Amino acid sequence: MGNIIVMDELLSNKIAAGEVVERPASVVKELVENAIDAGSTSIEISLDEAGLTKIQVTDNGKGMDTDDAMQAFSRHATSKIKTEHDLFRIRSLGFRGEALASIASVSKISLWTSDGENVGTKVELEGGRILSSSPASIRRGTDITVNQLFYNTPARLKYLKTIQTELGHSIDLINRLAISFPNIAFKLSNNNQLILQTSGRGDLRQVLASIYGVSNVKKMVPFESESADFHISGFATLPEITRASKNYITILVNGRWVKHYGLNNAIVDAYHTLLPIGRFPIVVLNIETDPMLTDVNVHPAKHQVRLSKEQELMELVRKTVRTVIHRIQQPPEIKEKL
Ligand code: ADP
Ligand code: MG
Repeated sequence: MGNIIVMDELLSNKIAAGEVVERPASVVKELVENAIDAGSTSIEISLDEAGLTKIQVTDNGKGMDTDDAMQAFSRHATSKIKTEHDLFRIRSLGFRGEALASIASVSKISLWTSDGENVGTKVELEGGRILSSSPASIRRGTDITVNQLFYNTPARLKYLKTIQTELGHSIDLINRLAISFPNIAFKLSNNNQLILQTSGRGDLRQVLASIYGVSNVKKMVPFESESADFHISGFATLPEITRASKNYITILVNGRWVKHYGLNNAIVDAYHTLLPIGRFPIVVLNIETDPMLTDVNVHPAKHQVRLSKEQELMELVRKTVRTVIHRIQQPPEIKEKL
């Protein structure tokens, strides 16, 4: 008799949680992305102690019926992809079917959901185990509360930073999601204090103004361009507005906020010598392309993306941003000749 056994699901979920659930902001990310995938037009995020004690996300999306509400916390349970074919054409933010199982394994959850047709459902879980489920009265949508994150993984709890740092991560995340989805009304609060609220009216400039301030956004210029494989658009600050880090650059690929070193550099390069050393612009870069040319299945947190034809894209970005920045930089008499 050998020594090898297949580990049970609760244990493997807890191991997977180590990758997906690093801190409160990672939970916020997964829950809000689920709300977005559910077609919500309004998403409210309410934290207590930066999410350490409570993370509640309420949406008005399509909700779940009772079967799905019970199934959603199983590992690899997803409604978003069904075949390998789908994996290479992903349009949703989620697809791994791992987040809820992972989060549930390291917290206490209460889920209220309704698809608006059948009676709603309430499910309570602790450490990944379903404690109870019952019919519940709720309007169409989902309300999920994650309590006492990492209550059963003390080492992870110990490595969290100060409340202020953890809150900063969640604020940054919601800022980026609000920028990615100007059509969705976001509301973020911590300990009942409102931090960010967007209207959901689809005006990206307005979203940027509520995040970066009206005066900075007045100094942002729009750009748009395309090549054979990519369509890009966005806003970039004139060189007089700078920041001490690249964190004010937001790159979206087909609506997903990603971190991409090469594209960051292409943007900064576009300013050439116009920026002081160590200073960076505020930029939103929106890239639309065939999902076949992208691969987000690099890491479970889906922060990275691999792109085919990366060189073509970086060149397009550099050229487009450079052109608008330099055109506006010219004194008026030269500008007229351009
Ligand atoms: P994934 O998002 O990768 O599919 P998750 O574990 O995050 O995996 O979620 C599992 C499933 O639960 C989703 O595929 C979706 O069907 C359902 N679900 C989760 N959150 C919501 C929500 N807010 N509204 C509607 N359905 C949801
Ligand atoms: Mg998900």
